[in-house]
Order: sequence, then C-alpha cells, then structure tokens
Amino acid sequence: MAADVELERVSKLYGTFKAVDDVTLTIPKGSFISILGSSGAGKSTILRMIGGFEYPDYGTVRIGGQDVTMLPPHRRNVNTVFQNYALFPHMNAAENVAYGLRQDGVSPDERKSRVREALEMVEMLAYAMRKPNELSGGQQQRIALARALVKRPAVLLLDEPLGALDRKLRQQMQVELKLLQSQLGLTFVFVTHDQEEALAMSDSIAVMRHGRIEQLGGPTELYDAPATAFVASFIGAQNFIAGTRIDDTLRMTSEDGSLFEAGVAAPGVERNARVLGAVRPENVSLARDERQASANRVAATVAASVMLGDAMEYVLRLSDGNEFIARLPRRGAETHAPGARVFAHWEPSFFQLFPYEDLRETRRLGA
Ligand code: ADP
Ligand code: MG
Repeated sequence: MAADVELERVSKLYGTFKAVDDVTLTIPKGSFISILGSSGAGKSTILRMIGGFEYPDYGTVRIGGQDVTMLPPHRRNVNTVFQNYALFPHMNAAENVAYGLRQDGVSPDERKSRVREALEMVEMLAYAMRKPNELSGGQQQRIALARALVKRPAVLLLDEPLGALDRKLRQQMQVELKLLQSQLGLTFVFVTHDQEEALAMSDSIAVMRHGRIEQLGGPTELYDAPATAFVASFIGAQNFIAGTRIDDTLRMTSEDGSLFEAGVAAPGVERNARVLGAVRPENVSLARDERQASANRVAATVAASVMLGDAMEYVLRLSDGNEFIARLPRRGAETHAPGARVFAHWEPSFFQLFPYEDLRETRRLGA
C-alpha cells in the first residue's frame, strides 16, 4: 500500500550552513514526484531525511500520517535506490534481491516467490543466475530496483538512479520506471538534476535552490508558467532581455531603449522595476526583412546553426554581444547561413516578465 509523505518546516544544518532550509512539502500517495535542482541544492539531504539516514534539526517528517522524524530507516516503510547501486559482486541477481528478505527473516518459500515476482516486475527473471559483472549497467540498475521493490515499501526513494546510464538507456528506463510506478501505485520520490528527466516522468516537480523549494508544480505548469526567472531558465531553454517595466503595463524597455510587450508578468514584478523578459527559443521566429517581423523584435547576426533533426537551432548574436537562440521546425522553413543578418521576433503571449535577478552563476552551473 502506498503512503503519502509530508515534510513540515524541515531544516537541516551542517554547522551554520543550511543544506535544507524550512521546506514544507506534501507528496500525495501513489504519485511520482521529482526533486529537481543543481548539485548542492539539498536534494539528497531531503531524501535522506525521508529515508531516516539523516535527522532534521527542525521540523517534522510524516509517512502515512505517522510522525517518523526520529525513527531509524528500518522502522519506516520506505526503501531507497541509489545512483551507485552497489550490488554484492559475489552474489547473483536473485541472491542480491533476496538479501534484504533474508535479513528480515522471511521464510525461504516466501523469499523465493517474492524474488521471482520482483525480478519479473523489472523483466530480469531470465538473468536471475547472473553475477553483476555479467550484467550491463542498465540490467544492474534493474536489479537494484528489484532489490528495493521486493521489500514492498509504501514509498520508494530514488537518488539519481539513472545517472550512470548512457542517454538512450536512460530514456528507456525513464519510461519503464514511470510505467512500473503507475502499475504498482507506489509513491516515488525521485531526485535528479536533469530537467528533461523530471519533465518526462513526474506528476509533480519540486525545483530546489539553495536548500529551498523555489517552485512546486506539474511539468506543464513549470514549463509554461514558471514563477521565477530561475525556474524559467532551469526548466527548458530561455532567452532573457533585461530592462525596466513601464508603470503598471505589461511592457518593458530594454537598456538600449527598445520596447517589448509581454503577455504575462510573474508575481513580484513591480511598476518601474528592473525586470527580465523571457521568451523560449521555440517561440522565436526569424525574418530577413524588418517589415515582416512583429513588434517584439531584435536585430541579430546568425553566429551558428545546429541541426537537431526535427528542428534547426540558430545561435544569434545581438548588437550588445549577448546570445539569443531561435529554434525553428525544419518543415518548410527557410534557412539562414552564418553571418546572415536577421530579425528575431515573437508574439507578446510568449513573453513573460520576471523580477530581475542575476542568473549568470546559476547558468554557469549548467542550470
Ligand atoms: P544535492 O543532492 O542536491 O547535490 P546534498 O543534499 O547532497 O545536495 O547537499 C546539500 C549541501 O549540503 C551541499 O552543499 C553539501 O556539500 C552539504 N552537505 C551534505 N552532506 C553534508 C555533510 N554530511 N556534512 C557537511 N555538509 C554536507
Ligand atoms: Mg545528491
């Protein structure tokens, strides 16, 4: 049976450093939540406090309504799958999966049937007798998953479990994990720094930054209506233009005096305040002739084009030296060679205003 997980005003300090800072989060039972953030954001610390490997300095952790804040891991109905899945090398797959049940004193007969069931869930029954070094990385990861599932936890915690796999295999495992989660109806708490992975798998995503949850929402909501410039830049790609909001309108002027019209302003955007306007590359069009460009436009030179298969990505250089990205579907689109002068333009409904913040550091982190 799945259980819900609640964190109420949870903080974790290392010395005076707040690794997790006053986090409140409710994870409905049977749902798939991702905790997304760059390295050091506090993701693993949150998972360890749910798992019981770490105790909060402040706040309460509840699983299935029960206060488990100070309970050790084995007294909680949770299990964890780590990135370095650490299978026992001298045991075969079935023995690895059976290990925890043996520890719990489960009878040999029941052990056998539960190991079989768990291996079937991850489609690894045919590999039951193989040692880890006779399995691929993806197969070892499945065994690690079976080892956690065999204990029938109410909540499964996964800490970057696909990080060691190559891209193709990772994408395949994402789909399989998601299917397995919805079939079993378990609560999954999935930690990742990979926003595409979080978008692909989750019912909801908690975006973390400096130990806090910056925004919690479904994948579509985070992508279409980010609450801050940080979330806007972390999830998907964005072009930003810095400027000043004009009074109470949804318009802004950039530093060179150009006027831009936005469709929406994020919370906290004040009149005449510094803002960042944001437009995603897939919402940008290119025109050779200024008269064919809509009102929101910037003049640019094509620096490079990148072939993505279904789309062509143009890296543009603006007159102030900044980069601007346009991503155009290839079907029927005219092409632009490096060096060409173009106008990048977009509709106001694709342009959102955010309170200004310096994103250079977060972008450098690969965010
Ligand atoms: P993430 O999983 O998001 O990469 P962590 O939760 O592992 O981040 O760590 C959050 C912050 O807390 C990091 O700055 C990390 O260095 C720090 N930290 C984690 N564990 C410890 C520890 N045992 N002692 C001191 N600092 C720690
Ligand atoms: Mg971590």
